[in-house]
Amino acid sequence: PSGATASTIKQVKLEKESELRIEVGNDAPLRLRLLNGTAEIFGTELPPQIWLNFPPTLKFAVFTWYGATIELDGSTETDYTADETPMVNYVNVHAVLEGRRSRAKASSPDDPDSSQGPRVIVVGATDSGKSTLSRMLLSWAAKQGWKPTYVDLDIGQGSITIPGCIAATPIEMPIDPVEGIPLEIPLVYYHGHTTPSNNVELYKVLVKELAGMLERQFAGNAESRAAGMVINTMGWIEGLGYDLLLNAIRTFKANVILVLGQEKLWSMLKDALKTEPKVDVVKLQKSGGVVLRNAKVRQRARSFRIREYFYGLANDLSPHSNIANFSDLCVYRVGGGPQAPRSALPIGAEPAADPTRVVPVNINRDLLHLVLAVSFATEPDEIISSNVAGFIFVTDVDIQRKKITYLAPSAGDLPSKYLIMGSLTWLET
Ligand code: ADP
Repeated sequence: PSGATASTIKQVKLEKESELRIEVGNDAPLRLRLLNGTAEIFGTELPPQIWLNFPPTLKFAVFTWYGATIELDGSTETDYTADETPMVNYVNVHAVLEGRRSRAKASSPDDPDSSQGPRVIVVGATDSGKSTLSRMLLSWAAKQGWKPTYVDLDIGQGSITIPGCIAATPIEMPIDPVEGIPLEIPLVYYHGHTTPSNNVELYKVLVKELAGMLERQFAGNAESRAAGMVINTMGWIEGLGYDLLLNAIRTFKANVILVLGQEKLWSMLKDALKTEPKVDVVKLQKSGGVVLRNAKVRQRARSFRIREYFYGLANDLSPHSNIANFSDLCVYRVGGGPQAPRSALPIGAEPAADPTRVVPVNINRDLLHLVLAVSFATEPDEIISSNVAGFIFVTDVDIQRKKITYLAPSAGDLPSKYLIMGSLTWLET
């Protein structure tokens, strides 16, 4: 080897209960391995000696309970060691949840109350570490053999599937630190926008649909029921955002509310829920390691996520470009537009825009670059109450030949001709 290339390998020794916080550089990936001791990334243990690859810009921490030596190969934007973390508090929460799961498992499945494990909801401002805490709680539970259900209500980012959706999936194994949650299609409902304010009613309806579906699944599955759920939420905690949080807490019958780094939100929720004796509202410190992300970074993360859906995290999927006739597809949007023409209404009445009305959409160039959801509905009436099979991305609309070209995860016919549009777009990069 030429002496000119400086080695980029370095070793970091971590004392017990400390963590190495890393932001991978913008241009190149980073390799990392556990040389000795034990360590975990957001609740998932690192295998000894094996090099792991982390993609550019990923932000994460390697935490050790008892001490470890880590080896890094590659350049980072930042890496530093911190010995002040809230991890002991977080793992104490986990221990309490474990106790409740065991009690639920031990009770008669015929008793719907006592056989229900903890329903945890994580709330807090944006960038308070909600997704990260959810992930740790799920991975720690999975490591102990439970199959908790992860529910993601954050339509802004999407940690289960693409943004614009609310979704749920059982977690059967500790979550992979790089791959995250496998992007198979779990139980997904499409809102179509990256903020609920575009259609608040629809957001509430979908939250209710998802909760109802999980309730039915739990009724027939004692194992999932005892393991309970961990619900991740949006960072919107003021005004309408707060109402939506309360609505989610009640709709999912959450009984453990974890409030991250928000004194005010904690006391508001504690007050709002004080008449519900079985609900614990717990205040938790936010980690100093949580990285703030501005609007641009968030937008980029959304775009990456959509790309990942079609192409895979490491470009390991090959999506298919398909062509369909306009007449083969039925595109709908939800809400907006007046319900009836003014002329059809009594004098003086204003046409009301019903936010949950399903409206057929003419196929034209406006669909270009939109991400559409493929509904499981078998007729338009079912669109709102149906979960979705997956997504397509419109790459061309040929008005003359009445043909639409789209990218789909695979070749062949779509599982349904009913497509849902919102405002979610993507620019393939
Ligand atoms: P929220 O869900 O509240 O918006 P996240 O949990 O997504 O926040 O955290 C924001 C970012 O900070 C993520 O990229 C996450 O990986 C990173 N992060 C969280 N905790 C740590 C930590 N202890 N050290 C380094 N990075 C962290």
